[in-house]
Amino acid sequence: MFLVERLKRHLPITHLMAVIICTAIIGLTAMLMPSAEAPASDAPTTFSQPQINDSEPPSPFGLQSATPHADKTKPDQMAMMSPAAQPASPQPEEQKPDVWQDVTVRSGDTLTSVFQRAGLSSRDAFLVSDAVKGTEALKRIYPGQTISFVIDDKQLVKLKHIRNQLQSTLLSATDQGYSVKEITKQPDIESRFASGTIENSLFLDASAAGLSDKMIMELAAIFGWDIDFVLDLRQGDSFNLIYEEKFLDGKKIGEGDILSAQFVNQGETYTAIRFTDSDGNSSYYTPEGDSMRKTFLRSPVDFARISSSFKTNRKHPVLGLTRAHKGTDYAARTGTPIKAAGDGKIIWRGKKGGYGNCVIVQHGGNITTLYGHMNNFRKGQKTGSRVSQGDVIGYVGKTGLASGPHLHYEFRVNGVHKNPQTVKLPQAASIDNAERKKFLVVAETSLAQLESFKATQLASAAN
Ligand SMILES: [Zn+2]
Repeated sequence: MFLVERLKRHLPITHLMAVIICTAIIGLTAMLMPSAEAPASDAPTTFSQPQINDSEPPSPFGLQSATPHADKTKPDQMAMMSPAAQPASPQPEEQKPDVWQDVTVRSGDTLTSVFQRAGLSSRDAFLVSDAVKGTEALKRIYPGQTISFVIDDKQLVKLKHIRNQLQSTLLSATDQGYSVKEITKQPDIESRFASGTIENSLFLDASAAGLSDKMIMELAAIFGWDIDFVLDLRQGDSFNLIYEEKFLDGKKIGEGDILSAQFVNQGETYTAIRFTDSDGNSSYYTPEGDSMRKTFLRSPVDFARISSSFKTNRKHPVLGLTRAHKGTDYAARTGTPIKAAGDGKIIWRGKKGGYGNCVIVQHGGNITTLYGHMNNFRKGQKTGSRVSQGDVIGYVGKTGLASGPHLHYEFRVNGVHKNPQTVKLPQAASIDNAERKKFLVVAETSLAQLESFKATQLASAAN
């Protein structure tokens, strides 16, 4: 575990990106070139296992032919280690070290073309793809992946498909065809703390705190029911979180889940704790055990789509302050997806005066939501269609009375307009009673962890 230092927050993003990209390239290179001596060419490369017998130079045919001395140390070692095993195999079979030949998948490759580059026939490719039918192995091959072969006398002996750093498949020739074995590596998981203050935008400031775009989206998703990241974010808002990082052989290969997080928005602190119940379902809860999910989203437009288009702009992405009228306007590019704020049924879908192309959704509890000025509607839906929270129902435009592309959003309870930013939204289910005890322990530990990280960071910042 380590702290993201204050300094890091001021690093330019380009620098961070460069580090991330470099790491990715190093990882990729390592994956493609298992041996340091492997030539960096596109052509099939070979590498051999460590030489067992270094007293004489390797014969060019040594690995291909069954020369008895190629492996002569092995039977002795075996005899020393397990003398009892000796009588059972009076003629220990000659073990030839595997000679692996790597072929890197190029764009446009098929299994057959990869096999041909390795010196095998299309019939071999057919037999192999037949053998792996119904498994994940070789189902799809992607440029940059490595397929390694052990070929003896033009016969395929072994094949390894390295799909990514964690997953590969090993095929071995047997008397009955090929045996298929999945090899899965488990990454080491470490917790990491990060924190930041909003000065420009969530994307800029969270990137500067060391968070990847994926983590930022997850953070925004966790608090997306309480905070409208498009309209409500303010300078001075702050966040801190503990999340998982995955390592393989000491190298970072990715990120896991956010374990706990806090977001301070306009002076109000929201805290979320990840909890996995006995059925294995994970969700985020307040420290009291209430679900972070609500029956309505704060913002029916995708914050990431809006923020990213305003990423380098200090100006807040709002078309003026238009809250005086009976809805909220979200400026966004034409075509930005609009999501249903909650589960419900479409009761209007068509032109409606100044609203232009408009969708109205009827929800439970006499609540309706209205989405105006749409460029176009989502295909496949009609009046009467059921929609779930987050379902795309249309796309931002400027139909009707609109000076520029934006979404006009209204939230009504019993026909009365409410401010969707401040209306108290009904909550989704709280934590199950049977799980509560277990949850409270997790929550307490998580909160203590967050607090101790924060305190350590404050202390190190003061020095
Ligand atoms: Zn409006």
